[in-house]
Amino acid sequence: MYVCGPTVYDYVHVGNMRPVVVFDTLRRFFEHVGYKVTYVSNYTDVDDRIIEKAVNTNKSEKEISEFYIKAFEESATKINALKPSFTPKATEHVASMIEFIKVLINKDAAYANDGEVFFRVGKVPTYGELSNVTQDELQIGARIDANPKKEHPHDFLLWKKTDVGIRWDSPWGEGRPGWHTECVVMINDIFGEPLIDIHGGGFDLKFPHHENEIAQARAYADKGLANYWLHNGFINLNNQKMAKSTGNIVTARDFIEQYGGTLLRLLLLSTHYRSPVNLSADIIENTNNEVERLKRTKQALVRHFALYPLVLKDDSLLTKFNEELADDLNTPNALSELYALVKDINILLRAPLKEPQKLAKLADAFDEMLNILGLDLGIKKLDKKDAELLKEYENARKNKDFARSDALREVLQKKGIF
Ligand SMILES: [Zn+2]
Repeated sequence: MYVCGPTVYDYVHVGNMRPVVVFDTLRRFFEHVGYKVTYVSNYTDVDDRIIEKAVNTNKSEKEISEFYIKAFEESATKINALKPSFTPKATEHVASMIEFIKVLINKDAAYANDGEVFFRVGKVPTYGELSNVTQDELQIGARIDANPKKEHPHDFLLWKKTDVGIRWDSPWGEGRPGWHTECVVMINDIFGEPLIDIHGGGFDLKFPHHENEIAQARAYADKGLANYWLHNGFINLNNQKMAKSTGNIVTARDFIEQYGGTLLRLLLLSTHYRSPVNLSADIIENTNNEVERLKRTKQALVRHFALYPLVLKDDSLLTKFNEELADDLNTPNALSELYALVKDINILLRAPLKEPQKLAKLADAFDEMLNILGLDLGIKKLDKKDAELLKEYENARKNKDFARSDALREVLQKKGIF
């Protein structure tokens, strides 16, 4: 599974965390049902915006990109995303990119002109297969990316001639690879061939980025690039598109700082990955209530099993939940299953010694679901000392020693156990 990662020239906005949540959850689900997953997510660490920032701040491109990679990884950790199997950086694969472009030129699918190399879109009859892009859209794209060196306006850049910032020697002169070539070559390098199971990314990447990746893979090995393509929807902020240009933006870092990574993760999982999410005060408040409810339930279970340890498993409790995730990663429906389970647990917790075995099985299913969804509530099993304290509290309560039980409860509350 390969997911296009961020271009690391600034702090990412909260919308950039959506693919992280979606594909991390997909990976966790696959691993839960027994697949071995190789999950690759790249960093685009060469780009005009990185070069511009490096020039303006008197730093190297590497300093800029490494700083923002670190910030991005901190945010990813805070939303409890597992580390991908590989996180290639474009700059570490430039030699392969040059070789790849040479092959495309040899196959007549690319041509060099005055230090730049372009892909000959006309060479791939299936061009547009992923995005169903129309001739009109191609025309618009051609106008935006007008370049008199192209044979045809729809052709796209594989090698860019540059004399500013980071650049490499190539058979066509000094320059740097085009973005569409970066991803397809990193896939080829890491997986050993261009055809992978799943390629993911935001909807905005479908065209031209993913379409152009496919075109190169077709021309290179005539195999296509991925068996399945998954595209996540956008995140709007107060019903408007998030965009740097309008200032309608919130960085992942700021959002997580204010509301926590678990809230962001749950908020994003509450909508199907293909639909848009609108960030608003209402949805944040509702999600916060859900997080608090999950935490209270988990804490009550931790207390109960500290006093009456019992571990039991019943995988049938996960059947429906798994079916929902297997159905195009339907996380909202999977969450409905989780919430129904929480309701059952809370009913049993009113008289926890009545059906202890059932409670143990539900508690185990609860943990499994949280794990698969990657929801870290930050609540651990009690250590020995705290378990003793809780027992003491329970005994004092039973013996109607209220002064003692109140004092102990206060201690336990301070520790977050109540
Ligand atoms: Zn990509």
